[in-house]
Amino acid sequence: MRFNYRIVFIITALVFTLSATLTIINYLTSMETTRERLKNSALPLTIDNIYTEIQKNIIEPNLIASMMAHDTFLIDWLSEEEDDVQQIVRYLEAIQHKYQMFTTFLVSDKSRNYYSAKGMLDKVDGKSPNSQWYLDFHKSSELNEINIDYNTNMGSELIMFINHKILNNDYHMIGATGVGLKTSYIKDMLKVFRQRYQFSVYFVDVNGKVVIAEQNVKKLKNLNDIPELASQFTDIIGKGSQVFDYTLAGEAFLLNRKYIDELDLYLMVEAKVNNFTKAAEDTFYLNIFFSAIITLLISFIIVLYVRKIHVKLDKLASHDDLTDLPNRRCFHEELAKLLLLKERNNSKLSLVFIDIDNFKYVNDTKGHDIGDKVLISLAEILNTNVRKSDFVARWGGEEFIILLIDSDINQAQIIAEQLRSQVAQSNQLAHYAEQQVTISLGVTSATEKDNVDTLLKRADLALYKAKSSGKNCIVSS
Ligand code: GH3
Ligand code: MG
Ligand code: MG
Repeated sequence: MRFNYRIVFIITALVFTLSATLTIINYLTSMETTRERLKNSALPLTIDNIYTEIQKNIIEPNLIASMMAHDTFLIDWLSEEEDDVQQIVRYLEAIQHKYQMFTTFLVSDKSRNYYSAKGMLDKVDGKSPNSQWYLDFHKSSELNEINIDYNTNMGSELIMFINHKILNNDYHMIGATGVGLKTSYIKDMLKVFRQRYQFSVYFVDVNGKVVIAEQNVKKLKNLNDIPELASQFTDIIGKGSQVFDYTLAGEAFLLNRKYIDELDLYLMVEAKVNNFTKAAEDTFYLNIFFSAIITLLISFIIVLYVRKIHVKLDKLASHDDLTDLPNRRCFHEELAKLLLLKERNNSKLSLVFIDIDNFKYVNDTKGHDIGDKVLISLAEILNTNVRKSDFVARWGGEEFIILLIDSDINQAQIIAEQLRSQVAQSNQLAHYAEQQVTISLGVTSATEKDNVDTLLKRADLALYKAKSSGKNCIVSS
């Protein structure tokens, strides 16, 4: 019987498919959960945090700028001839130091002078880029505004200006005043969000231009540089808070935007999805690896177990349970094989058929158990009195058969005689049966013409003759 590996293979495949399917479902679920969590809580929460932080940073400067714009000293000073510049410089300087502003300023509508804590800095005219804001503000109907802008007189850094109009008693604009803040605190905040939460945060204007971002970190100049965002641009430049999907260079991104009214800018919080699903991905590969290992282990155990059972079944099918000798089926196979070998090698092969004499009597008078003991003991005697290469089998009942390899009829007769006398003289057998136990033997040798049936028939006939000749004897044919 050959061991069938196909069933093990099928079980292995089934177990692995099952555990792989569960792992994949698990993976997809956790990917989806991660995405949903990003979309619905992490990104909106970050947006709100940043928005609150910015508002917090704007409130105080805005109050100061408002206070300045309503200061009667400023209103009176502007209404007069602006002759004592030092007075205004001291005023601006005092406020700048007291509230730790980056800059404070005053613009006179009449003289077009731009004053700061350092003195008169500039002249507002239509040609200077530093003046454009004032001209726009002048035209606007708003009383105050926040401008994120550069001023070449104040270095190269982006500055957040909080501008308030100064009105006279007739509500006419006579100038503008306010404070300027460094935007570096915004960049520090963006850095914290990037490092702590792996979010990329930046601000864009209504044209999609990136206005505030961490330098050397955010390479993007304009939202329209990303085709997928350009196609959604009209939606992105909308009000409120909303999440957008896009892919860039094979990487998926989630982008949450919020319009910030005070700055007239759009706050963008962006997450590279892969940064957040990496853990789930690693777990997935680990799970697949362990599934494979466990499946292999299970298969290995199954193979070991099934093989053990297989060996047992094999023995059961080919051996006799009582005497542990090969059974008739096994003997048939062996005989057929040896007959072929004999033909090829031109060797000799003899057969001895054995039957216990009057065994029914032993069974009937001493019991079946004693009969069994006699059979076991006889099997032992047969096995120990032939060569290792010879083949002893239980034919059935109290009949045994022996294949003598490389033995002609004469040698077979000699061995048969040895067996007969060993049995007849066995004390062990006599002890069990409480009387002498004898056997009858039929001996024959294979010829070229013989097949399994003819050979067996001849041996059987010889045994029959031995029985008829008075038992406890050998007949060869
Ligand atoms: P003969 O000398 O002509 O061979 O007579 P016999 O009594 O030996 O032969 P018979 O065929 O009449 O009886 C054989 C008996 O062997 C019958 C059966 O009860 C007994 N027998 C067969 N197999 C077993 C077995 O496995 N165990 C036991 N205890 N007895 C068995
Ligand atoms: Mg018999
Ligand atoms: Mg018998």
